[in-house]
Amino acid sequence: MTTSVEAHAAAFGSYPDGTWSAPGRVNLVGEHTDYNDGLVLPFAIDRRTECAVKVTDDGSIRVASTHSPEVVCVKVASLTPDGLDGWSAYPLGVAWALREVAVSKGLADRLLGCDLAIASDVPIGAGLSSSAAIECAVAVALNELWGLGLEPMELVLACQRAENVAVGAPTGIMDQTASLFGVEDHAVLLDCQSREVQTVELGLAAAGLSIMVMDSKVEHAHATGGYKERRADCERGATELGVATLRALSPADLPRAKAVLSDRVFRRVRHVVTENERVLDTVRALGTLGPTAIGDLMLGSHASMRDDFEISVPEIDVAVDVAVEAGALGARLTGGGFGGASIALVPTAKWDDIAAAVTEALDSRSMQAPHIFGVRPSDGARHDEQG
Ligand code: ADP
Ligand code: MG
Repeated sequence: MTTSVEAHAAAFGSYPDGTWSAPGRVNLVGEHTDYNDGLVLPFAIDRRTECAVKVTDDGSIRVASTHSPEVVCVKVASLTPDGLDGWSAYPLGVAWALREVAVSKGLADRLLGCDLAIASDVPIGAGLSSSAAIECAVAVALNELWGLGLEPMELVLACQRAENVAVGAPTGIMDQTASLFGVEDHAVLLDCQSREVQTVELGLAAAGLSIMVMDSKVEHAHATGGYKERRADCERGATELGVATLRALSPADLPRAKAVLSDRVFRRVRHVVTENERVLDTVRALGTLGPTAIGDLMLGSHASMRDDFEISVPEIDVAVDVAVEAGALGARLTGGGFGGASIALVPTAKWDDIAAAVTEALDSRSMQAPHIFGVRPSDGARHDEQG
């Protein structure tokens, strides 16, 4: 892979002051709970986006990426979210959002120009959040070079603002939180209501376990529409039950919900309420019995997404079922659904057998061959050693 230092030399003909990097993420459990003020348990992965930066004296930000031939240049002082589009809206959107924070704190005089070069081995659009990786890499770099001293959660919110306003994607804070707070061999428990973050030891390697990603390579055209419909159903459920968000509900409220709501909205609500419980149960199981004890919770999460939230697809259901038949302790759809990827918790010794069984099962049903690879829970965004 081209490093960001090489990319910097190619794009700007100079050597950077330093390099910063941030990882993509996988969600272990807690799906479609984020916009319901709920709980999520993602982890940062061993695929990273690197950003090499050199401070300049002309007041301009220039961005380049190994994924694009263009170099985009904007004056720091004239950055606006409306003027940004394409891939550069991610890094420049973060620069804009950080400038807004800096201005609000009276730190506008620190906003120097700089040249940023991006290189990455996070696959784009594969559900591993290359978007959060690029945002967070840029955010930690500018936070340091501009001397803003912002806390990680402030950076999370600046990145979210960039993605919501400059890119125009209505996303939550899970991905950036995982990317900024990740710790090797740990998951990141995020309470989307209080924004409290806690790292939770996974202990995968010690238990002889690995996380397998099975990218179905299926992407349904109605994914965006389906996501909006699910959000609308959740909002409707909350309104009809008289609560601000579904986070206010516990399993004890489900009989009342069933009596009041339509069957469809009830099942959406039941998914969210039980998924929050599964996140808590997963954290408890990890703390007491370790990672071998979370397989059934992953399967419960998958069944809930398949039957109640209705966001799975046949390719993913086959991958999940066959992975478990072949020896995985648990498996589930991960990400927004309507295609995308699933993950399986597999004994490392059975990796090859499970991967082969899944590939063969999909092939025998004339379904697209999945892309199967491993991810390791890894450290979050940081200033890298070299540079
Ligand atoms: P995901 O986050 O699942 O990978 P998204 O659609 O949310 O998919 O974000 C992908 C977009 O982020 C890309 O289309 C591109 O605009 C931007 N992006 C991510 N990584 C890079 C990169 N290394 N260089 C340039 N743009 C990137
Ligand atoms: Mg994304």
